[in-house]
Amino acid sequence: MQSLLQQDIKFLKGVGPNRALTLGKELGIFSLRDLLYTFPYRHIDRTVVHTIRVLQDDMPLIQLRGRIVDMELINEGKYRRLKAVFTDGTGYIDLVWFNGIKHMHQSLRLDVEYLILGKPQSYNSRFSIVHPEMEKASEATQTAQAMQPVYHTTDAMKRTAFSSKVIGQLVQHAFDLVQGKIEETLPAHLIAKYRLQDLPTALQTAHFPTSAEALPIAMHRLKFEELFYLQLDILRYARNRKQNIAGFVLSRVGEAFMSFYNHHLPFALTGAQKRVIREIHTDMRSGRQMNRLLQGDVGSGKTMVALMCCLIAIDNGFQACLMAPTEILAEQHLTSLRNFLGDLPVRIELLTGNVKGQRRKAVLKGVTDGSVQILVGTHALIEPTVSFLNLGLAIIDEQHRFGVKQRAKLWEKNIRPPHILVMTATPIPRTLAMTVYGDLDVSVIDELPPGRKPIQTLHFYHNHTERLYAGMRRELELGHQVYVVFPLIEESEKIDLKNLEEGADLIQTAFPTYKVGRVHGRMKPADKEEAMRAFANKETHILVSTTVIEVGVNVPNASVMVIQDANRFGLAQLHQLRGRVGRGAEQSFCILVTDYKLSETTRRRMDIMTATTDGFEIAEEDLKLRGPGDLEGTAQSGLPFDLKVANVVRDQLLMNEARQAAAELLELDPTEQLPQNAMVWRQLRLLRGENKNFSAIS
Ligand code: ADP
Ligand code: MG
Repeated sequence: MQSLLQQDIKFLKGVGPNRALTLGKELGIFSLRDLLYTFPYRHIDRTVVHTIRVLQDDMPLIQLRGRIVDMELINEGKYRRLKAVFTDGTGYIDLVWFNGIKHMHQSLRLDVEYLILGKPQSYNSRFSIVHPEMEKASEATQTAQAMQPVYHTTDAMKRTAFSSKVIGQLVQHAFDLVQGKIEETLPAHLIAKYRLQDLPTALQTAHFPTSAEALPIAMHRLKFEELFYLQLDILRYARNRKQNIAGFVLSRVGEAFMSFYNHHLPFALTGAQKRVIREIHTDMRSGRQMNRLLQGDVGSGKTMVALMCCLIAIDNGFQACLMAPTEILAEQHLTSLRNFLGDLPVRIELLTGNVKGQRRKAVLKGVTDGSVQILVGTHALIEPTVSFLNLGLAIIDEQHRFGVKQRAKLWEKNIRPPHILVMTATPIPRTLAMTVYGDLDVSVIDELPPGRKPIQTLHFYHNHTERLYAGMRRELELGHQVYVVFPLIEESEKIDLKNLEEGADLIQTAFPTYKVGRVHGRMKPADKEEAMRAFANKETHILVSTTVIEVGVNVPNASVMVIQDANRFGLAQLHQLRGRVGRGAEQSFCILVTDYKLSETTRRRMDIMTATTDGFEIAEEDLKLRGPGDLEGTAQSGLPFDLKVANVVRDQLLMNEARQAAAELLELDPTEQLPQNAMVWRQLRLLRGENKNFSAIS
């Protein structure tokens, strides 16, 4: 009955063309199936009603029962809002609407008792609820459900009164329609063996549980299914890859490697660096194509590992390339590799958009005739005009800026795919890497070079400007440089850019004798590069920017990272930003600036940042604080599907169980022909297909 579930959402009772558009655009819901698999993020017990007197900060959604005693329209134009004073006899709160004002103003009554639902926020010791859900108490009592689902809605939806409640009604309509026609998506033998609930019950319960106890049983089933298919896909892919792809045998450790190792190493390698070089070398000589992920915290010395692997390729008569996400990073790599190599006879060249004319021709010729042994560059490297004589190893730095497709293009650069090494600074925690990157083998540098001073991280409030400026001044007077980062998100881009410009002006006024540079995403790439270069060359002392500096830039002289509105960044991002300092021998600082009033999770994020500089620990915490499957989108996490209910950290045990189930199934049915599993492969194809649509959209 897949076709029924795949039916377009616009035909569902209560939807229609407008809401269908909104559902698709805002929540990615296009079919009945999408709707049924859009789960509430929580349930509220509608039989519990709070009183105003006991309200506190940081309360979740709550219900109040009472009356409106006054209504008032405030301001004009953009700042217009409707304020209603609401009381339940124990105190007063304000109800506020910014949207749908006219409609609310006309429909709200002073003489009616309401049951309202919302999240109370306090301001100057008075509570208010913005855009509460309003229901007449007399009508509400009949529908009051013990466990009412709460669905995620976006700002755009709130503007058209497309509330969680409306979604709940649509879900109910959908269930009415597909009643008795939902097909099981796990084979009977798995359901029996792992004692799982059947799909129709689990789906129904996930939305409308009859009791608090019923919910976890349903969620268990849905999570298991999700993780099972995830693991099945990964394991199947890994198996096929291992069987099929032969690799160049790069076994020799010869002249280039040995003379570098014996005479040109500027420092002793850390134990972790040695270990990962061994792991990579083992792969490169195994006869099977390497696809390895090298994880190492910022500053752990991945560049040196990359270089030594390139030297192994050279010793075996192959070329190597190193690809970076930006021109400036590519240039920096070239400089560090050249410095490391010194007078060793290794030809290393740069290829970026900036390399033009005769120079470009010469580089391309050298790549084709094999005289260029290491080619460093941007995505220019994967263009069809770049044709290697014999590429044996391709290294990708800061992987998350490259898509899978770009990686695939590297595969075509030789008659057999070259070995691939992807280097990244901790996008996901260790415990997870092995599971989700089933198709990549993982190496970890879990040790920093000796003598690093851990970055001191401090949390300041906005009104601590004096202290902040004093600290900046002290460092500037020592000849060091300072980054100041402002958040920028698309939805509020205009305001954010204005904040950045104003912030930069304030800083320039406060530090008249120093030069302030600016970088933001709205600038042309060339201007951005120029501003970064000026900072790297100490022509500017303070760099005010959005997160464009996030990835990989190396300015060892910068000793302070100020992050404005740090609450608006995720942990992983904060850690990446912080990693831009502490690259020299000097003590470095990271200052997180926020408002005084913070939500519980934000405060927790700030606490973690000030407590530890261990990227792996931060990545673990990051995942714990996020919702299910939310790893900054599927593409970056390496997961083949979006997870809707399972959380890769919290559901670790279940993940192992699902992995075991998937492995067993693959083992018993390697040719995928057993009739009892036919549905499994069909379902997997369906999931993969949906994922394709998903990636085409994003
Ligand atoms: P990342 O892993 O973030 O790319 P880099 O490769 O840029 O780190 O290394 C950071 C700094 O540490 C560089 O200046 C590099 O020369 C230095 N470095 C790398 N390995 C060692 C080591 N074993 N001992 C001392 N310094 C090292
Ligand atoms: Mg690096």
